[in-house]
Amino acid sequence: MTNRTPDLKGMLLSELEELVSELGQPRYRADQMAGWLFTKGIQDISEMKNLSKAFKESLASRASVTRSKVVRAKRSAIDDTEKLLIEYTDGARIEAVILTDDERHTGCISTQVGCRFKCRFCATGAMGFRRNLSPGEIVEQVLRLQKRLDPVRLNNLVFMGMGEPLDNYDALLKTIRIANAPWGLSIGARRMTVSTAGIVPGIRRLADEGLQINLAVSLNAPTQELRAHLMPIARKYPLDELMGALKHYAQTVGRLVTIEYVLMKGVNDSPEMATMLGRLASGMLAKINVICYNEVKGARYKAPDNETFTSFITSLRRQCPTVVRRISRGSDIAAGCGQLCVLPDTK
Ligand code: SF4
Repeated sequence: MTNRTPDLKGMLLSELEELVSELGQPRYRADQMAGWLFTKGIQDISEMKNLSKAFKESLASRASVTRSKVVRAKRSAIDDTEKLLIEYTDGARIEAVILTDDERHTGCISTQVGCRFKCRFCATGAMGFRRNLSPGEIVEQVLRLQKRLDPVRLNNLVFMGMGEPLDNYDALLKTIRIANAPWGLSIGARRMTVSTAGIVPGIRRLADEGLQINLAVSLNAPTQELRAHLMPIARKYPLDELMGALKHYAQTVGRLVTIEYVLMKGVNDSPEMATMLGRLASGMLAKINVICYNEVKGARYKAPDNETFTSFITSLRRQCPTVVRRISRGSDIAAGCGQLCVLPDTK
């Protein structure tokens, strides 16, 4: 973590209120602080201009504010996608992406520096796990993207960047609560999506939080055998348990679950696989997003040709009507699904 003292950017309003009360200040000071932290996105306590110098000094003795900087930004030449390399004060670096689609401005957010799950097709998995991000660091990441877009508002968040969000559950949940709150980032719960590789207990826990968050699962294989090969996490949480958890989520939250399926040439792209995938999803509140594999340098997999892609979609639609053929965004700047990673030369 970047800070040893409590991080104001990772605090709920109730926690800010508790802190100001301990420091002998009226409750409304917490509202003022929330405005500076989450609307203005300040990087230092001294920037809270309407607080007295003495109060800011006592605040600084008890807490700190996470900072970050954009080290590099790359804009796609083929669409409006922009990828940012963001560095925290301890030198940890992550990537985050802004996707723009007419009025829709989506931040693709990282929750960990690297990832421990080693999915075979994923660049983040190949870099290994460094550390979790704290709630304040994830909120700060959203604020960095917002600053980049100003005065346009970031109005969607997908927790689909580096890392497995449900492997950093408490930080994820706190971030969602801060992002969702009117005193925080004011982003509607239905405009946030958590994407998981299939952490079954995390899915069940999220279903029972009483939030209207969208859930996406990176499925990528219609059989346990192939899934366990592509995504080692499936050995711990087998496909039948995962499908049970997804049904529970859809029923409890009352929202469609998105099944993400990355098509890899000769691996999971046959019409038989499409039929099996359709059967898996039939009878549950789900839509299936099919996307072509984004080739990464030195990767062992390839994208299928257009004809194979089309016949896969056609076979799948016979079983499950809610299929979306997704276009990969920002693939020329390695900002697509499974492409985010921080190489050793960039720390
Ligand atoms: S796909 Fe997700 S869970 Fe799998 S290695 Fe990549 S970041 Fe981790």
